Amino acid sequence: MKRFLAPLLASAAFALAFPAHAELDVPALKSAIETSVESNYEHLDALYKDIHAHPEIAFQEVKTAARLAAEMRALGFEVTEQVGKTGLVAIYKNGSGPTVMVRTELDALPMEEKTGLPYASHDKTIWNGRETPVAHSCGHDIHMASWIGTAKTLVGMRDKWQGTLMFIAQPAEEIVAGARAMIDDGLFTRFPKPDVGFALHDGPFGYGTLAYRVGIGSSNSDGLMVRFRGRGGHGAVPQATIDPVMMAARFIVDVQSVISREKDPTEFAVVSIGSIHAGTVGNIIPDEAVMYGTIRTFKPSVRAKVHEGIERTAQAVAAMAGAPRPTVEITEGAKAVVNDAGVVATAEKVLKAAYGDRISQTPPGTPSEDYSEFIAAGVPSMFFNIGVYEPERVAAARNGSGPALPSNHSPQFAPVPKPTITTGVTAMTLAVLSAFDQRAKGQ
Ligand SMILES: [Zn+2]
Ligand SMILES: [Zn+2]
Repeated sequence: MKRFLAPLLASAAFALAFPAHAELDVPALKSAIETSVESNYEHLDALYKDIHAHPEIAFQEVKTAARLAAEMRALGFEVTEQVGKTGLVAIYKNGSGPTVMVRTELDALPMEEKTGLPYASHDKTIWNGRETPVAHSCGHDIHMASWIGTAKTLVGMRDKWQGTLMFIAQPAEEIVAGARAMIDDGLFTRFPKPDVGFALHDGPFGYGTLAYRVGIGSSNSDGLMVRFRGRGGHGAVPQATIDPVMMAARFIVDVQSVISREKDPTEFAVVSIGSIHAGTVGNIIPDEAVMYGTIRTFKPSVRAKVHEGIERTAQAVAAMAGAPRPTVEITEGAKAVVNDAGVVATAEKVLKAAYGDRISQTPPGTPSEDYSEFIAAGVPSMFFNIGVYEPERVAAARNGSGPALPSNHSPQFAPVPKPTITTGVTAMTLAVLSAFDQRAKGQ
């Protein structure tokens, strides 16, 4: 409750901008925001296409960050660079009131874009010692353009709210490390701790539509490494060896029984082994086999159960083969994003008034997202999704009369910029205004 006190004290002054208990005139606000986006769209479009054509991957987002920093300074924000390596914090003070955070990511993916768009990326970089193409195939460029557009719109409407905007641009979301890096670099000690936070993510559904969740919205993600040690030898003399390839094969199959037999079937968990390395040629039994995988869960109790089952299965497989104990390393990745019921309740009223049945609640998604770090650090938040494709193409894909649409991380992922960015700016601006308005009323 403590965090509500300051906004409550500020609410008297704020009431001048928003008469207490009056509802926001959402249709009027929405059209004012859309007009603002329209008049600024050429600039946002050029920014979006330039960032799209020149993507940078995790912790290499130097040019992207500099570009956003210049934009925010031009809007009157006080910008601090290199927060969490390549991250940005942009603050705009507009009288006393709550601090509302809006996050974008900065990073792209080490993959080749195959959209054939005129502004497609042809850039390459060095990643893990190897040259790789780079592409904004998760749509973080859409988020950046929406973030700048939202900042500009809110500054233009500064007579309609009072408080502090804290716009942050986070590096390295794709390796779920950037949010942590910013927090470790003093995000909430060198800068104000936000009262409310928002972030959006695009996805392969119709533009002009939004989706959100109450409670858990994404999975806990953990990395897995298992190393089986055996005794190498001739492939024709297996009795003189301890075969780690056999152990790996057994483990990969048996670990799925942790999912199917040990955890409650009504609870979500996934274990996938995506990489396996052992041996050189067909007639040599190697010394060891190494596997890498990913573990996804929603609930901490299920997460603990699955971790324990994986460890026990690996140890049992090695014991069965008479091999030394294997190494099992589980590295904690992103936590689940858990939306705050209060923040959602306030924002959804406004978003529903603006979007009607084009905003809907969806079940939790199984990918992960490190926005969860900000929530875990105590910022009550709402994370929501916006669609990127023509609604007719989405409908055709759903009823089977058209091709399936590429999702995030596909080399063909290609949002339609204008309606997607317009929705991003409009929805985010309305969400931020709802938070200022609610705090001003002291609700
Ligand atoms: Zn992604
Ligand atoms: Zn993403």
